[in-house]
Amino acid sequence: MTAEPILTISGLNVDYGTGANGVRALRDIDLTLHRGEVLGLAGESGSGKSTLAYAVTRLLSPPGVITGGDVHYHRPGGGEPVDILSLTPDELRAFRWQELSIVFQGAMNSLNPVHTVHSQLTDVLTAHRPGMRAAERTARAEELLTLVGISADRLAAYPHQLSGGMRQRVMIAMALALEPEIVIMDEPTTALDVVMQRQILRKLVELRERLSFSVVFITHDISLLIEFSDRIAIMYGGRIVEQAGAAEIYRDPRHPYSDGLLHSFPALHGPRRELTGIPGSPPHLSAMPTGCAFHPRCGKAFEPCAERVPALAPPDAGQDREVACWLHH
Ligand code: SF4
Repeated sequence: MTAEPILTISGLNVDYGTGANGVRALRDIDLTLHRGEVLGLAGESGSGKSTLAYAVTRLLSPPGVITGGDVHYHRPGGGEPVDILSLTPDELRAFRWQELSIVFQGAMNSLNPVHTVHSQLTDVLTAHRPGMRAAERTARAEELLTLVGISADRLAAYPHQLSGGMRQRVMIAMALALEPEIVIMDEPTTALDVVMQRQILRKLVELRERLSFSVVFITHDISLLIEFSDRIAIMYGGRIVEQAGAAEIYRDPRHPYSDGLLHSFPALHGPRRELTGIPGSPPHLSAMPTGCAFHPRCGKAFEPCAERVPALAPPDAGQDREVACWLHH
């Protein structure tokens, strides 16, 4: 894997609402996706994972508003980075699907029940590749379906004739239709059983290796990320609290919250871990604790934790990982 960045997010802030009713949902997010990488984004509900996906793709709807920071897309082959937050609506329309596509939560239920898979896959091509002839669109739709492991003869099927896993794979095929450089997947497999989740992720990683796109994979299930990601960023209270290689997070989580997440899901592979969970509940955006937002739930909290926010920084000089915890700074 090369270390060349394809998406850089710096100092990103997102608020919901303004003035006295406003709450901050994302705080100072710095994150880099590298070319060809699977970057996992983990955290409990309300940690800001989906807000980050919506902000980066400019799909945040009111009252969500980006109040600071930058998001840049770096085209393969160099050139000026694209400032995503400054794209005009027309530029944005061309940018989405072609350069970056997103598969949403519950996407498998968003296929239109009265249209065949063929019609829905070719619709994307009709909208974005107007010069393509009907026969070429059908051939591409067949190719896409085969790519995600579904027989091309299922093109004539309606969504209700497919299993949940197949519908989800159709959504992935749709996301790959225009060969984007980046695919963002927001809890795409949560509604599926654990075996199907892994089958789909295995397929995604295989496709990534063949087609060399980069993936941001969002889930609350860190055990999935350990298996399928190259790197993992953990979010809590709208901040990134730790980021490191997936193997490093698994072997040696530095943030007590990462450690708690790892002990909240059974691992399908590797040594057994005792499941202990994390006491308490995630903070509400309107009542974010002072200092380290995790301190009311942290068994290791000590003197500075309730007062000062720890910066996200390498725990030791020169390390290629970062953690925001006073235990390490
Ligand atoms: Fe726990 Fe303090 Fe580290 Fe926060 S900064 S995770 S409260 S030890």
